[in-house]
Amino acid sequence: MGSTNVEQDMLDLKKSLQDAQTKGNASQIISLLKQLSKFTVTPALLRKTEMGLFVNKMKTHENSEVSRMAKDIVKSWKAQVMKDTPSSTASTASTKSESTTSSSKPKVDTKPSPAQIQNPSREGSSTASSPRTPTDTPRSRTVRTDGMRIKTTGDDVRDKCIEMLYEALGFNSNAESERLLSKATSIEATVFKKLSVDNKPSKDYKSKIRTFFMNLKDKNNPKLREAVVDGDVAVEDFCEYTTQDMASAEAKARDRAIEIENMKNAKGAEEQQAETDMFKCGKCKGRKTRYYQMQTRSADEPMTTFVTCINCGNRWKFS
Ligand SMILES: [Zn+2]
Repeated sequence: MGSTNVEQDMLDLKKSLQDAQTKGNASQIISLLKQLSKFTVTPALLRKTEMGLFVNKMKTHENSEVSRMAKDIVKSWKAQVMKDTPSSTASTASTKSESTTSSSKPKVDTKPSPAQIQNPSREGSSTASSPRTPTDTPRSRTVRTDGMRIKTTGDDVRDKCIEMLYEALGFNSNAESERLLSKATSIEATVFKKLSVDNKPSKDYKSKIRTFFMNLKDKNNPKLREAVVDGDVAVEDFCEYTTQDMASAEAKARDRAIEIENMKNAKGAEEQQAETDMFKCGKCKGRKTRYYQMQTRSADEPMTTFVTCINCGNRWKFS
C-alpha cells in the first residue's frame, strides 16, 4: 500500500480528466477541475501523481473556462508549495495548509523565452534532477511524462517512432497532449503508408522518421514544430518535406552567418597552415597545398576541409 488515499483520489481524478479530454467534454472537465481545486497539495503529492504538469498543460486548453480554471489551480498550488518549501526543489516537505495567496509570484509560465529556446540546457543538471512541481517549466515532454498512452500499431518499431515524434513535437511546447499525440500518430501513419515494405517498417521509413525527429526537435527551429502542431502545415504536406524545406528562416540565417564567419576566418587560418602534399589540385595537378578544417554546420556534423593550391591558387572543399 504505497499510496495514500489522497494520492489515489487524485490519480482517479486525473484518469477521469483524461477520459473527459478524450471525449472533448468540456463541462465534465470543468466539474472535475472544481473537485481538483479543493485538494490540498504537497510537492510529494504533485510529483507522485504528475498532476502539476498535467494541469499546467490545460492552461492552454481551447475552452476558456477550462484554461482559466487550470491557471487558477496552478497558481494556488504554486502558492501552497512555495509557502512551505523555501526551495522549490525540496522533496519531502509536507503541508496541510490552505493557500489564500493569489498575488504571488513565480513564473511557471511556460512559454519558453528566446534564451531558453536557444540554450535549453542552460540550467542543466540542477533542474534535471529536481522533482516535478508546477514550478517547473516544461522543456522536454514524452508520452510517459505526459501520462499519455499511444494507440499501439501492433509493431514495436512503429510504436517507438510515434513516441519519438511525440517527444519532438512536444519539445518546449505547451500544446495539449492529445494534439501532440494525434499529430505524431498521423505523421507516423503517413510515413508508414509511403515507405513500408511488406507491411513492415523499412530502412527508408526509419531514416525518414529519424530526420523528422531531428528537425522537429531542433531547438533553433521552433517555427517548424509550431507549424505542424498548430496545423498551419497539414501532416500530408509536412511528410513531403525535404530537409531543405524544414530548414527554417532562422536555421538558414544561421547557416549563412557561419559561412560568412568562415570566409572571414579563412584568410587568417589559411596563413597559419603549413603546407601539405596530402591533396592533389584538380586544376594544375600540383600537390603543394595548404588546408584547414572548420565546422560549417552544427557541431554533430563532420568538419569541412578547405584546401588551397599554392601553385595556382585553386580552392576546393570537402567534408
Ligand atoms: Zn593548382
